[in-house]
Amino acid sequence: MTKIDWSEYSKIVVLSGAGISAASGIRTYRGPDGLWNDQKLVRLSDAYTFRTEPLEVWKFWSQTRKICNQAEPNAAHLSLVSLEKSLRPDQSLSIITQNIDGLHDRAGSLHIIQYHGSVLRTRCENFLCSLEPFTDTKLYVDEVPLCPLCRARLRPDIVLFNETIPEHNARSAQEALLSCDLFIAIGTSGTVYPASDFVRIAHERGARTILINMEEFVERNPYFKETILGKAELILPELIG
Ligand code: NAD
Repeated sequence: MTKIDWSEYSKIVVLSGAGISAASGIRTYRGPDGLWNDQKLVRLSDAYTFRTEPLEVWKFWSQTRKICNQAEPNAAHLSLVSLEKSLRPDQSLSIITQNIDGLHDRAGSLHIIQYHGSVLRTRCENFLCSLEPFTDTKLYVDEVPLCPLCRARLRPDIVLFNETIPEHNARSAQEALLSCDLFIAIGTSGTVYPASDFVRIAHERGARTILINMEEFVERNPYFKETILGKAELILPELIG
């Protein structure tokens, strides 16, 4: 198997996707057992649907919130924590996660960019409102919660389809990528833009680029120069030790 001498790299960036949480019992969109064929899921993940059917959207995401809240980090999440702890002070590990499940956070990783937000947070839909997004494990299945400050609707703090990435997340990810010398994508199908383009940015900056996934997709993304096929929860403990 590919070997990594972690001491050679100063800025390590990991891009994680749904596959890293599969062993925690959270289903992926694509790949074996993927949820993607469920048209209802696609509709309830769309920002336009929140405008017209907010309670339906809340019911669906409340269910996802419950699943994510009950899930436990697996060996892949925990290996990344061990890696971060083992680094010298002049090295860093940034995790850009597409996942909204909060599992890197719960595992104890320190530098996480939750690129698509977190289902375990709620925010006001009114961008002008000063209510900060807050940690929330409540399930909203009977009525749509309202903002205590401006009475607009509250919503899950995630990026829905037809929404753009929050500026702060986009900037933090860009900064991490521009200086990285090792880029590893884990458990992602590489289909969701802009995260799917991160490997190109890293490669063009001269970083080593590795994909750890159950399926290969170099034909649609040639910037991954090494691929390790298999389950993240088995590969990462071996790679990191
Ligand atoms: P994806 O569902 O499109 O692809 C998952 C990939 O992981 C597939 O290529 C699959 O082969 C691979 N995989 C499955 N099990 C694996 C394992 N044990 N080890 C390694 N690889 C494994 O996921 P994506 O690329 O992250 O894009 C989906 C979008 O959906 C993201 O934007 C994400 O926000 C969202 N999503 C999040 C979660 C979550 O938070 N856990 C779950 C489903 C979808």
